[in-house]
Amino acid sequence: MQWGDDVQHFDCLIVGGGHAGAQAAILLRQLKYEGSVGLIGDEPEFPYERPPLSKDYLAGEKAFERILLRPPSFWTDQSISLFLGERVKTINPADHQVVTAKGTAFTYGKLIWAGGGSARRLSCPGSTAKGLFTVRSRADVDGLMATLPKAERYAIVGGGYIGLEAAAVLSKLGKQVTLLEAQERLLARVAGPELSDFFAAEHRAHGVDVRLAAAVEAIETNESGQATGVKLADGEVIPADAVIVGIGIVPETGPLILAGASGGNGVDVDQYCETSLPDVYAIGDCAAHENRFAAGRRMRLESVQNANDQARTAVQHIMGNPAPYEAVPWFWSNQYDLRLQTIGLSIEYDECIVRGDPASRSFSVVYLRQGQVIALDCVNRTKDYVQGRAHVLAGSRLDRAQLSDAEIPLKEVGLA
Ligand code: NAP
Repeated sequence: MQWGDDVQHFDCLIVGGGHAGAQAAILLRQLKYEGSVGLIGDEPEFPYERPPLSKDYLAGEKAFERILLRPPSFWTDQSISLFLGERVKTINPADHQVVTAKGTAFTYGKLIWAGGGSARRLSCPGSTAKGLFTVRSRADVDGLMATLPKAERYAIVGGGYIGLEAAAVLSKLGKQVTLLEAQERLLARVAGPELSDFFAAEHRAHGVDVRLAAAVEAIETNESGQATGVKLADGEVIPADAVIVGIGIVPETGPLILAGASGGNGVDVDQYCETSLPDVYAIGDCAAHENRFAAGRRMRLESVQNANDQARTAVQHIMGNPAPYEAVPWFWSNQYDLRLQTIGLSIEYDECIVRGDPASRSFSVVYLRQGQVIALDCVNRTKDYVQGRAHVLAGSRLDRAQLSDAEIPLKEVGLA
């Protein structure tokens, strides 16, 4: 098929301006890719870091310019064409063509899909009320920050990292915070009960009203459609001037799946981040890959580490220097003066060992599967995080008594 002059061609076209997409573009140039590079992003801003959105950006401690991934001039200097505020609607894999919602058409040699995900929304009555905020984009957080001068009472739905980090910031700002988690414990999908209990106690000690097994039934509103509270299944209403919803993300893969890419929860990729469509890669939050650190289970990883490392995998494959994706997962979260650092994936652990006393606010949880170290959650214990990496990589079988002795450095713990 022939396309007119108004269709722009890129040797490598990237869809998504988050960490994964931006990093792919940056790496192409760092590794001396000589072809043309275009990047389409649906947000109007230059690519920026997302982790600060629920931390120091929300706290007003970091200006937006300081969370840009690169200064604005970088993109033109590196001959990376940015198309911001454009959302891809369709992909035609046979013609190697994409079209945006505004009708802009592009053709590509290689396509890197880094669509990420959008914040999941509540579906209960009142869920479209004014005064409800997700925490995924700068626009979301700017909207939330605009409530700070007037709002005193915040209800947070979801006890994952978004909810907990937002609770820490808001309680430090002196707000009255109620956190509503549907599960019996916080961080239920990503950490063991020791960590859940620790963070629940910390937030409570900082004045956050943490409610577990809290089923949200409706958002209460006033006559002008403004949220005034959250109604729970037991009939209790938590009064709120603003409601934050941090209940996970929905991967953005619609156009790829419609175009025939295989996938379900995300789009399926192989060890080089190739999708089932020719010349189309997927990376970051939306890429469902078989992860060696989850016993080969197909999964999506929502982390900056995964975004950056999969960007490298796809770019190296495009440049004819393939290396399979085998990066060790890592992750961090800051809440109050606590720094949580995670290495590995604790999925399907069958034993865990605590090093140090949680009451001292410096401890680690070591996760084992069939006797092998698979992950560590380290709270204010960076040494364990650094030294634990080798054990996760090796799947070490360690002496349990030494492992539970926080005085013995992890690198000196003997084998079982
Ligand atoms: P999340 O980690 O998926 O946690 C959401 C939590 O909300 C889950 O425990 C979930 O339980 C619960 N939930 C779901 N529906 C609910 C409901 N109706 N009422 C009450 N609770 C409900 O998602 P998130 O915290 O929104 O974070 C979104 C993404 O940003 C994640 O990928 C996260 O890792 C990332 N993030 C990273 C950082 C960091 O790097 N430190 C910080 C913030 C966010 P179920 O498991 O039962 O659904």
